[in-house]
Amino acid sequence: MPRIFSGIQPSGELHIGNYLGAVKNWVALQRQYESFFCIVDYHAITVPYDPADLRQRTRDMAISLLAAGIDPSACTLFVQSMVPEHTELAWIFNSVTPLGELERQTQFKEKALRQESVAVGLLTYPVLQAADILLYKADMVPVGEDQVQHLELSREVARRWNTKFATEEAPFFPEPKPLLTPTRRVMGLDGQAKMSKSLGNTVGLLEDPKDIWEKLRPAVTDPKRVRRTDPGTPEVCNIYHLHKAFSPPATVEHVAVQCSTAGWGCIDCKKVLFESMEVELQPIRQRAQEIMDDSKTVGEMLSAGAARARAIAAETLGEVKQLMGLT
Ligand code: ATP
Ligand code: MG
Repeated sequence: MPRIFSGIQPSGELHIGNYLGAVKNWVALQRQYESFFCIVDYHAITVPYDPADLRQRTRDMAISLLAAGIDPSACTLFVQSMVPEHTELAWIFNSVTPLGELERQTQFKEKALRQESVAVGLLTYPVLQAADILLYKADMVPVGEDQVQHLELSREVARRWNTKFATEEAPFFPEPKPLLTPTRRVMGLDGQAKMSKSLGNTVGLLEDPKDIWEKLRPAVTDPKRVRRTDPGTPEVCNIYHLHKAFSPPATVEHVAVQCSTAGWGCIDCKKVLFESMEVELQPIRQRAQEIMDDSKTVGEMLSAGAARARAIAAETLGEVKQLMGLT
C-alpha cells in the first residue's frame, strides 16, 4: 500500500483552513493509504512560544484531529518530538541541502519578516519537513497550497541524497508529491492573507457558533458590492468560496445566482453559510467534547502511535547511516 505522511504544527488551534486544505483529506485518505499524521512540535519551536502553551496545544491538536475524524485504528497519529529520528535525519539532510534553496522559501521570508531575531531553525524548517516525510519513505503528502514549495525542496533533498549515497537504478528515497484539495488555500476572513494560526485570522474548527457568527458577520466580501442593490461577482468573494467548501451543490448554485442578481445581501448569504458550517462543525465539536471527557485515551493513543512510527523511522535511519558510512 502506498504511504502518505503529513504534519500540522501545534502553533494554535486547528482552523477551517487547515481542515479544508489538509485534515479533511487526511480523513478521506487514511484507509486508502498507509498513513502517518504527525503533530510537529519541533517545527512549532522555530518561532517564540510559551512551553506551557505548547504542551496544551499539542494535546488540543490531537483532540481536534481525532474529532475531525482521524482514526488511530486506521492510521498512525503521533507527536514529532516523541520520535527522535526526525531530528537526526534532518541533520543528515542539512549536509545535502543548498543554503540558497532555503533562503528562497516563501514561508521563511514571510515568517522571518515578523521576527525581531530569526532563528536558524526557521530557515532549516523545510529540511526537517523533508526528514519527516522521507523517514517513512512517503510517496504522497496531503497538504495545503502553501506547502507545495517546501515539497519541491523535499524532492530535491531526496534526489541529492540518492545521487550521493544510493544508485540511480535503486533510489533509496521516493520523491514525495503533494496531494491538494479543491480548497487548497483558504483566505482569512479579512481577505488579506491566507488563514494561519500565527496570523490570528482564523475560524477555529471547534469554535463556539456565536463566536463564528461574530467573525462571519463583518467578513470581507466582493468589494464592489457597496450597496445592498449592487450585483456581486461570486468568484471574487471569500464567502462564496467557503460556501463551495461547506454548502451542498444546489445551495452553492443558488448563492451564485442570488449574489450576481443582488437577490440577497451579503448578510443573507452569510447566514446560509453559517447554517451549512454548523451542519459540518457541530458533530465535530460534540466528538471533541466526548474525547476531552476521556482524557487518558489521548495520551495512550499518542504513545502507541509514536511506538509504531518509531519502529519504521529507526529502520530507515539505520539504513541511511549504513549507506553514509556512519556508525
Ligand atoms: P502557522 O501559521 O503556525 O504556520 P498554519 O495555519 O499555516 O500555522 P500549519 O501547521 O503550518 O498551519 O499547516 C498545517 C496544514 O494546513 C498544512 O498542510 C498547510 O498546507 C495547511 N494549511 C494551512 N493554512 C491553510 C489555508 N489557509 N488553506 C489551506 N490549507 C492550509
Ligand atoms: Mg503554516
